[in-house]
Amino acid sequence: MALLQISEPGQSPQPHQRKNAVGIDLGTTNSLVATVRSGSEVILPDEQGRDLLPSVVHYESEGVSCVGYEAAEHNSSDPLNTLSSIKRLLGRGVADIKTLGDSLPYEFTTDDGGMPKINTVHGAVSPIQVSSEILRKLAGRAELTLGGMLDGAVITVPAYFDDAQRQATKDAATLAGIKVLRLLNEPTAAAIAYGLDAEEFDDESQQRTIAVYDLGGGTFDISILRLSKGVFEVLATGGNSALGGDDFDHAIANWLRTELDMGETLNVYEQRVLLEVAKSTKEELSINNQVELDILDTRLVLTRDCMHQLIDDLIEQTLTACKRSMRDANIKADSIDEVVLVGGSTRMPRVAAKVSELFGLEPKCTIDPDLVVAMGAAKQADVLVGNNSTADMLLLDVIPLSLGIETMGGLTEKIIHRNTTIPVAKAQEFTTFKDGQTAMSIHVVQGDRELVSDCRSLARFELRGIPPMVAGSAKIQVSYQVDADGLLNVSARELSSGVESRIEVKPSYGLSDTEITQMLQDSFSHARDDMRLRALREQQVEADRMLEDLRAAIEKDGQSLLDESELQCLQVTLDELKQLRDNTDDHRQLAAQIEVVGKTSEEFAARRMDASIKQALAGLSLDDALK
Ligand code: AMP
Repeated sequence: MALLQISEPGQSPQPHQRKNAVGIDLGTTNSLVATVRSGSEVILPDEQGRDLLPSVVHYESEGVSCVGYEAAEHNSSDPLNTLSSIKRLLGRGVADIKTLGDSLPYEFTTDDGGMPKINTVHGAVSPIQVSSEILRKLAGRAELTLGGMLDGAVITVPAYFDDAQRQATKDAATLAGIKVLRLLNEPTAAAIAYGLDAEEFDDESQQRTIAVYDLGGGTFDISILRLSKGVFEVLATGGNSALGGDDFDHAIANWLRTELDMGETLNVYEQRVLLEVAKSTKEELSINNQVELDILDTRLVLTRDCMHQLIDDLIEQTLTACKRSMRDANIKADSIDEVVLVGGSTRMPRVAAKVSELFGLEPKCTIDPDLVVAMGAAKQADVLVGNNSTADMLLLDVIPLSLGIETMGGLTEKIIHRNTTIPVAKAQEFTTFKDGQTAMSIHVVQGDRELVSDCRSLARFELRGIPPMVAGSAKIQVSYQVDADGLLNVSARELSSGVESRIEVKPSYGLSDTEITQMLQDSFSHARDDMRLRALREQQVEADRMLEDLRAAIEKDGQSLLDESELQCLQVTLDELKQLRDNTDDHRQLAAQIEVVGKTSEEFAARRMDASIKQALAGLSLDDALK
């Protein structure tokens, strides 16, 4: 008799059944979906065999009419209802849209929650909804090819995306019915596609520094990553959101215009034709040394060398951004271990050669630079759903900017440092500044600068009901908790009384990618000034505390415990301290004066101590006092 098999509770009856997992590269211009089949990553094409899906959605009055190539065809006939480049709006607030909106032809509106929406004939739609349509289309494509529902997807995002932009990407996926296994940084995905995370380390430090150079049609991104113990950290990101292959096309089109004596002003049609010729010429020059053109009854020859003269300045701009990012990451080109090329424009041999020259390394370019990000994401998805039990790839998300708290003097105390992997919980103890202080205001900030005014304010709340105590005796424990979705929870608790207050900090839709890159760059470039300012603020807080304490002590005991000249001497040093506190920007000078006051008041402090002991002992027998 055949035995019936019963599986363990919670375990699949077919443990070896593969799960349907995909990697999705949700791009500004094009998107892709990939999976792992027989151990290799493959792009899942549409029914016509096309890998890419233009990130375009067309709306009509009943709703979405089409997505992708079909939608892109409506671009010129129905621009207001044909939504493209929506990734740029994802997770952005009204203020960002005001600046970005100028470069996009849409009409914007805001809903009650302050989220900007785009007006279409179907009504107002949010960037999250539009992105979800693209994701739904890709998921549908994948389900059709894989022959079943998706078990999960890894979706890639730019390394500089902040919490709000990541959250918006996740929301878009949820709306599309996709289970997000993880959001993955695009440069990290490219590094994974090349298996850089799985390579054996041959140096002692067990870490590797990777530069990911991503030059597409309209944008350039450079990311410096550090891989250590399975965690990719983003050391620096940089680039130019308005520099790419399109600029090479313009440079070549200008050359064509001059050679063809077409004059300064061209009509839209002539411009488009010239740009198309320029683009195909450029792409052909990636294979051949020269291209012959027959255009407007003129025969022209463009050689590679001649094209280099037209575009070298533009390539140089990308190299300058690379150098800046290395400076930000505090590393030299020779400490980069690997360079990975991403984006269609890195197919140009000139670009690859210049990058190789800068880093002194042969860049990795064997995987199609348009597909590499989706492939890395697919590889990671395969591991996360448990299809690949041999891979021990533990990749963790990190916080892009430090989370901190405002302390006295408008200083930021970092509680969770940037690049810390999440989920994470950290606590720190703080104390009261004044005697009898019964409330404390908690100001949660994000950023890497020393002063609160240079960081972004996330939330404020108050802890009330602290029992009145002498300044410095209360113990307030402030805990920061960031969950796997990047949501921050802050609580504050006075330890002796147990009084507690908490707040959930929802990401606000407002920090732009340029802002976040700028904030990071500022934190690097201002580091020295910031440290000086921090030291000054700390001394100022110390001076304030000293002035306040000593003035109160003098008022109470000055007459009884000090003679006239002692009192005067102490007053003079205090006045000098106040004078310096308000006027000097040299923290050392202020620290020196604090020391002078400390020394001058030592005797007074000792006498006060004696007096208070005497007072405490008055009326007690020796036995009582020693009990
Ligand atoms: P992406 O945004 O990554 O899809 O890159 C698109 C850009 O890559 C466009 O400017 C294309 O002209 C450019 N591109 C694609 N293939 C080549 C090639 N073989 N040689 C030069 N540029 C290319």
